[in-house]
Amino acid sequence: MKVTINGRTYEAIEGQTIYDLAMQNGIDIPVLCHHPALEPIGACRICAVEVEGLKTLQTACTTKVFEGMKIHTATDRVTNARKTNLSLLLKVHPNDCMTCDANGNCKLQELAYEYNIKIPSQEVQLRGLPLDDADPFIVRDLNKCIQCQLCVRVCDEIENMSIYSMVERGYETLPQPAFGTPLKESECVFCGQCATVCPVGAIVEKPAIGKARWWEVDKVTTTCPYCGVGCQIDVYVDKRKKEVVRVYGSGINPDVNDGVATCVKGKFGLDFVNDPARLKKPLIKRNGEFTEVSWQEALDYTANGLKAVITKYGSESVGVLSSAKCTNEENYLMQKFARAVLKTPNVDHCARLCHASTVAGLARAFGSGAMTNNLKDILQAQVILVTGSNTTEAHPVYGSRIKKAVRNGAKLIVSDPRKIELVKYATIWLRQRPGTDVALFNGLLHVIIKENLVDWPFISNRTVGFEELKKIIGKYTPEYVE
Ligand code: SF4
Ligand code: SF4
Ligand code: SF4
Repeated sequence: MKVTINGRTYEAIEGQTIYDLAMQNGIDIPVLCHHPALEPIGACRICAVEVEGLKTLQTACTTKVFEGMKIHTATDRVTNARKTNLSLLLKVHPNDCMTCDANGNCKLQELAYEYNIKIPSQEVQLRGLPLDDADPFIVRDLNKCIQCQLCVRVCDEIENMSIYSMVERGYETLPQPAFGTPLKESECVFCGQCATVCPVGAIVEKPAIGKARWWEVDKVTTTCPYCGVGCQIDVYVDKRKKEVVRVYGSGINPDVNDGVATCVKGKFGLDFVNDPARLKKPLIKRNGEFTEVSWQEALDYTANGLKAVITKYGSESVGVLSSAKCTNEENYLMQKFARAVLKTPNVDHCARLCHASTVAGLARAFGSGAMTNNLKDILQAQVILVTGSNTTEAHPVYGSRIKKAVRNGAKLIVSDPRKIELVKYATIWLRQRPGTDVALFNGLLHVIIKENLVDWPFISNRTVGFEELKKIIGKYTPEYVE
């Protein structure tokens, strides 16, 4: 459809909002309560725009475009409305930018500057709430809250924990855990996403307080080193000290972690990078003592050493050992170095410890030792069977997606001897004895075949060895398995 913004016509698609269309075409509409990963709610009204033929201003983030729509984003009426809304927010907001940790990354500050809003200090009426710093990772100063509900929504829609609700009325309406307890007394998992999305300094990361101002950090986009979800993260590094100050979920690949999600490990566990005991320079052992050397010297020494061993004993006498803390790409380079440069097949990896069996099993069952689908497909699943995985602990961001899939209507079956967290969300908890997984799965296959629940076209087109399988599982009746 054709939609006009500020006199220029653009192609739009059914269901698109005014805000999305404007952003797609480089037209700036300010927002406070909007985040691309979350459902829009039009609470802050800063994105108000004029639509010809409609009496009242419309919120661009929630209003869908229609054929022939004519929108104006910067008329006097629009600007005045934005100024009024900003003034109302600033009349209850502490102007302590000098010591606020959000200074330089505060959307309210940016917009107050852009719209030149000045509120005389005698007109500011603060809420007078105490600082809430009882929690290990998060400090909340709800005097600064602008009621955008981003924290409530990210906890609900992405983390699926719903720790906060907006409580009370009017200017007192604020996000609170049930009964106003500290977060540590709630079921909060300290994923820190509420601090990531808070557009002002109302929720901030405790470990980052006082470390560096926003203009004193560099943003480094990378992959979280902790687990196989591979969350994309933006690490903010102090330019002078080269220390990690804080971590945000990155928008670089929303399919992985929704452009915002982290767990407590990725968000608050990267401070090991700052540990003074870490090796930052290569060492060579001389006369029994490790001595610091330059990278060039270390590389020459290693290359010469490898060459000497290979010349004397052959290329299979050397091997490389890589790490799960590296990215897929780094590990790929490592095996390429081994196979193409050193010409050795000896490549190993610390993930062998826990994944030798899973990779072999997956490769035999599905033809590849990796996931057969992407990280988002699970949201479409009707049934999810979790076994051998305490997902919310080991791969927390993916665990949250399983919870979301359950909310979407998927049935969850957990087969695990332990009462893992996902059991709370499960329709069925199968508590098999340790060591009986194979019997359990053979039992499931037995019932699937006996009750003719088989997807025959899939079996005939995509699988081999079904008749042999049938013979093996013949004896695995439910009674036998039990
Ligand atoms: S840290 Fe995570 S779980 Fe806790 S309140 Fe914030 S978003 Fe919710
Ligand atoms: S605490 Fe921050 S994110 Fe939550 S409603 Fe207030 S301003 Fe918005
Ligand atoms: S789920 Fe947590 S540990 Fe795993 S990659 Fe994401 S942030 Fe890192």
